[in-house]
Amino acid sequence: MLKAQDSRPHVTISARGEERVRHGHPWIYRADVVDVHANAGDIVEVIGPRRRAIGHAFFSDRSQIPIRMLTRGEAPADRSLIRTRLENALRYRESLALEATAYRLVHGEGDLLPSLVVDRYGDYLVLQALAQGTDRMLPDITNMLVELLSPAGVLARNDPKVRALEGLEQKVEVLYGTIPDSVVVREGPVEYDVDLRRGQKTGLFLDQRENREAAAGYAHGRLLDCFSYNGGFALRLARQCRDAEALDISADAVARIRENALRNGVPHLQAREVNVFDELRRLEKMGARYDTIVLDPPAFAKNKASIPNALAGYKEINLRAMRLLSPGGYLVTCSCSYNVSEDMFAEMIHQASEDSHTPVTIVEKRMQGRDHPVLVGVPETYYLKCFVLRRVE
Ligand code: SAH
Repeated sequence: MLKAQDSRPHVTISARGEERVRHGHPWIYRADVVDVHANAGDIVEVIGPRRRAIGHAFFSDRSQIPIRMLTRGEAPADRSLIRTRLENALRYRESLALEATAYRLVHGEGDLLPSLVVDRYGDYLVLQALAQGTDRMLPDITNMLVELLSPAGVLARNDPKVRALEGLEQKVEVLYGTIPDSVVVREGPVEYDVDLRRGQKTGLFLDQRENREAAAGYAHGRLLDCFSYNGGFALRLARQCRDAEALDISADAVARIRENALRNGVPHLQAREVNVFDELRRLEKMGARYDTIVLDPPAFAKNKASIPNALAGYKEINLRAMRLLSPGGYLVTCSCSYNVSEDMFAEMIHQASEDSHTPVTIVEKRMQGRDHPVLVGVPETYYLKCFVLRRVE
């Protein structure tokens, strides 16, 4: 039974909220919060409707998700719990022995550290605190990471929009040491020059590392990498392709692809600043053919309401890519929209194949890399789908 004293921060939740926690989900929504005795960013005791102690959690006073569970039952949540979880997360990444100097060290809920992201770029760390609880603990977390990893610098990339929903300022700041304008990292055989302050996400799309490696098992002939950013897939695949083209709508991204192509000894990789939707249509009209196509668009479905439009967008690019594919060619097609489930994605691929009259087989169904673990019972942690398709004839 509960021994909570009124002086300790605590929050009472509804029976529905309690049920959710019992099923393993760490988030309690605003509608299920009944009573609050806590301040922004506190670690609170969570109490059920029959005054049962449910666990401890981060509390946010502005978010639609005021409660993010850290522990269940009577187990306390404190500095030493956070440190243990950080150590576990680091030990797991070490055990993977990844062929890269850039990877994710902490993937929020997937590491039982809700709303915390830590990425490693060589000697530097980039952090994101995406809720009030982790924001308040950031100085502590930084100290722990400095002790555990001795980085040369720690940067907070606290500029994502979700911070605004938490009532937190959007800012980029150096928390420890120094951060150079560009950092060179390696991913398998590819070297990148990364701008940690201004690059998308924390600099690179680390979640695709293993999919790039898998795609290398199929790539051949003429390559078209769509939504290339700084050349992620193209740089890995170009060395085994006769021709290689990378497309992105951003001039900065295209400039980086060109620099990276030279740095990596693949000068035949051509980058073009175009809108992929228009370009696929143009290539189809010209009767172009490719043996390997990659589609890695940004998240089209940012929320539930945009799912139908997102699916229409995915279908459009997938059916055009299927038509551009030579028989025996491969299409590596991705969605990083959490709101588009694997089933919806598979159904969209079915429709694209039907409408383009292209018979394709599913060679592999893949997901985000292992350094971005998916926590069972928390579907939000599974966001990236990547199918490898083959045009049969
Ligand atoms: N494939 C990349 C990551 C892609 S991120 C990797 O492996 O690292 C998505 C990219 O799509 C961004 O660089 C963005 O500039 C680009 N983009 C968004 N909309 C686009 C469009 N309509 N046409 C071309 N590029 C687009």
